[in-house]
Amino acid sequence: MKTEKTFVMIKPDGIQRSLVGEIIERFERSGLKIVAMKMIVPSGEMVRKHYSLDPEWMRKTGEKTIAGYIKKGLKPPTDDPIESSTIVLNNLVKYMSCGPVVALILQGVHSVGIVRKLVGGTEPLTSDVGTIRGDYVLDSYQLSDIDGRAVRNLVHASGSVEEAKNEINLWFKDHEVIKYRHIQDEILYDADLKGILE
Ligand code: GDP
Ligand code: MG
Repeated sequence: MKTEKTFVMIKPDGIQRSLVGEIIERFERSGLKIVAMKMIVPSGEMVRKHYSLDPEWMRKTGEKTIAGYIKKGLKPPTDDPIESSTIVLNNLVKYMSCGPVVALILQGVHSVGIVRKLVGGTEPLTSDVGTIRGDYVLDSYQLSDIDGRAVRNLVHASGSVEEAKNEINLWFKDHEVIKYRHIQDEILYDADLKGILE
């Protein structure tokens, strides 16, 4: 459990808005350990691969976007989930490959869930205050749809342990993931808490 890993990508808007330090600080201060990190410019092909790791992503995202329009009393641009998610995916490819991003792997107990909590809900308009997307973004599906682009939500974070494994395999080579002891591990995990008092 203590070595659960999750994959995070600070998207191009995070770099352009000089929020890299701020975002990483939020993950770091939770106690999670950074075990890999790099700056890259993703190719469109890699972004497509990233979103096709889950064969159900197209269908699920399509259904979600259509349901989102209906909930808001709006007419969806299409009734076909795959057509709907194809629009989302094409916009994501353009967004995520437009410039440098920072990819990192965070390790620690419940890392997937903890990071998702810190990142907040997908649409910045409704992400909770106190989360990264809630605090630093003013975007919405409504505006991004009108402008025909992906919603600028600063960060990607794996949604499950399984998703994290696949994403880590896609973006990192084995030798880029560093196994090391962090001083902090003791106060987080050591059941005996020996060695504090002199
Ligand atoms: P995440 O894990 O919170 O990033 O959300 P998902 O995995 O469901 O979706 C991946 C990305 O697709 C999101 O970060 C958004 O850019 C986009 N997306 C997801 N759902 C919607 C939606 O309902 N409308 C629009 N416009 N984009 C969406
Ligand atoms: Mg996701």
